[in-house]
Amino acid sequence: MMKTILLNNRPKGKPTTSNFEFVEENKILTVNEGEILLEAKYVSVDPYLRGRMSDAKSYVPPFELNKPVQSGIVAKVIVSNNDKFLEGQYVSGLLNWQTQQVSTGVGLTKIDETKAPLSAFLGILGMTGLTAYLGLNEIGKPKAGETIVVSGAAGAVGSVVGQIAKILGLNVIGIAGTDEKIELLKSKFGFDAGINYNTSTNIDADLKELAPNGVDIYFDNVGGPISDAVLFNINRFARIIICGAISVYNETETPKSVSVQPFLVKNSALMQGFIVSNYADKFPEATQQLTSWLSVSKLTYTETIVEGFDNIPNAFIDLFDGKNKGKMIVKI
Ligand code: NAP
Repeated sequence: MMKTILLNNRPKGKPTTSNFEFVEENKILTVNEGEILLEAKYVSVDPYLRGRMSDAKSYVPPFELNKPVQSGIVAKVIVSNNDKFLEGQYVSGLLNWQTQQVSTGVGLTKIDETKAPLSAFLGILGMTGLTAYLGLNEIGKPKAGETIVVSGAAGAVGSVVGQIAKILGLNVIGIAGTDEKIELLKSKFGFDAGINYNTSTNIDADLKELAPNGVDIYFDNVGGPISDAVLFNINRFARIIICGAISVYNETETPKSVSVQPFLVKNSALMQGFIVSNYADKFPEATQQLTSWLSVSKLTYTETIVEGFDNIPNAFIDLFDGKNKGKMIVKI
């Protein structure tokens, strides 16, 4: 039985399972010359998919209603009528939320399973690892001895940003939503300190205590009031990487925030939006560095693996409640 998950209607506020439609079909897919048949093994769920579920203008087109949702997927080649792909090989790419699908192979990357477990190609060796590495280096321009603050620190991107910053000799402070996550940041990922934004009564004051010399780089994954508090603490020539703003993705009204201009002017600071796909020419170099650090255990990673194709929407929705540690992945 082939299963597909369609976008049924556009979420208003936080997504719910009613935004998705499950379809089951008893059909055999035809694989024409030049095509391959893929079976999904691991599906990545990511906060940015929320943006594609609404029809607002963005850097990628919105998902179409009544069409399959797409995300990063690791799949096995079951049938190959394309001499570039062997049966039994694993590939990753932007694919449909479908248990099986036919592809021409265009846009797919072959996976070298000897380098890491398959799921890692959706996280540390996939899009989120590249985001961490390229966002930090290309915009953050880190220097040893500087202080960086990372929000969404215990997630897929944030946990890698903090580790790379430690490798490069920075003082690293993470902000995340539970004490357990703060403990993980320090014990597993080597962060110097952490702030639980759900229990802190004053993030600004906490930062002043943990970073008395100010913040040189802010890797922003969340936006909103957490990011306002970091702005109060930036140094001259600070770099602020706007990677994501999950705290406002489900807002139905335009969010109110502190006006950033005075902080940027006073500190000659740089704030720049980051989209990983803009740096595609640097993916090979970044992947090589991440793979090399991983192979000598300078980098590590955590995954939250949810089992079962039918649980893809719930795993996606759970990102907005912080139910993941590290990369959220669904195993089919
Ligand atoms: P993730 O951090 O693994 O998962 C999302 C995390 O966000 C949750 O675990 C939760 O952790 C936190 N969160 C949820 N609601 C929040 C809120 N209201 N306030 C503060 N934190 C909240 O996700 P990811 O894949 O690594 O992505 C992190 C960010 O980077 C997202 O904003 C995403 O859109 C962005 N991103 C951007 C690019 C790009 O190219 N620009 C690429 C990849 C990802 P807590 O328990 O700590 O709240």
